[in-house]
Amino acid sequence: MKRLVIKIGTNVLTRADGTLDTTRISSIVDQVEALRREGAQVILVSSGAVACGRSLLGRDAQAGGRKLDPVEQRQLYSAVGQVQLIGLYSRLFKDWGTTIGQVLTMKESFSTRREYLNQRACMEVMLANNVVPIINENDTVSVTELMFTDNDELSGLVASMMDADTLLILTNVDGIYDGPASGNVIPKVFPGDDISGSIGSQKSGFGRGGMLSKYAIAARAAEEGIRVIIANGKREGIIKDLYHNVPDTVCTEFVPAEGGVSSVKKWIAHSSGFAKGTVTVNANARKALCGESAVSLLPVGVVSVQGDFEEGDIIGILDPAGELFAVGRSSYSSEQAREVIGQHDCRPLVHYDYLSLL
Ligand code: GLU
Repeated sequence: MKRLVIKIGTNVLTRADGTLDTTRISSIVDQVEALRREGAQVILVSSGAVACGRSLLGRDAQAGGRKLDPVEQRQLYSAVGQVQLIGLYSRLFKDWGTTIGQVLTMKESFSTRREYLNQRACMEVMLANNVVPIINENDTVSVTELMFTDNDELSGLVASMMDADTLLILTNVDGIYDGPASGNVIPKVFPGDDISGSIGSQKSGFGRGGMLSKYAIAARAAEEGIRVIIANGKREGIIKDLYHNVPDTVCTEFVPAEGGVSSVKKWIAHSSGFAKGTVTVNANARKALCGESAVSLLPVGVVSVQGDFEEGDIIGILDPAGELFAVGRSSYSSEQAREVIGQHDCRPLVHYDYLSLL
């Protein structure tokens, strides 16, 4: 069975004034439902809450006679807008007899294996019960510094976590263009291709993300074996056309790398931002870890331990110059690790199965 994660950007879901575009959302729901009836499992990652809330309350919302700061605005608008957004999805899916479920999450919820598995179980149980999960970041309570860059990042994490075959990122342009002034969309990106040079850093409209972040996320997910497509969600029938591989459908497709990555490695690879501490290794250890064969990091190769972490936490692995080159799950607490630095005949500090080179 095919499993798709579809990320829908604010600019697809809202009109120029930020109000929800019911016609468009209705068409998206119809297409998603058509795919589901063909046997696909669909998880939606939907933006649009902040823009919708802003359109309802206006930009002049106040507290104690002063304008709201950006964090207060995000909290207020998302709280108000999310209700409208999910209400609309709920009504539209209900017309098809389909039940949806809302998942509001935060970056922190991907940081420990326990929470990660808990979220995965939650979505699996929804899918098993024929419920469509609709995910957004919990903007009301997430802390600015710890937020996802944007919902593109969130959708990449979800696709990886849920072992999706396909991640479809719907935005308001046709894909990645081969140059700022050219009208040509790059149709396919193969593993190892670097097209970052042709992408402008501009971001469009209401959403947080830009094409550069979409590209980075798409390339990474494709490396993990997920087919990623960036396409224009405003084009009529785009989801169905892509699903059915209709020839000449305009989009940028990232061809997945052969041979999947184990799910635990996927989690670790996405976790470098959550590292609770770091260890610095010597040159020999670095060489061994980066070599052809799969090896674990042994305490003998470690020269110092920084930070406080527990057994099972994610740690960064630094080379002698202090450069981060790998992440992994520590089999020791920082305290235990400090005791075994440089020693032979100890169990690995990071087992190969829980190690990811950057
Ligand atoms: N979570 C935000 C919202 O619902 C969108 C973030 C983004 O633009 O990616 O409005």
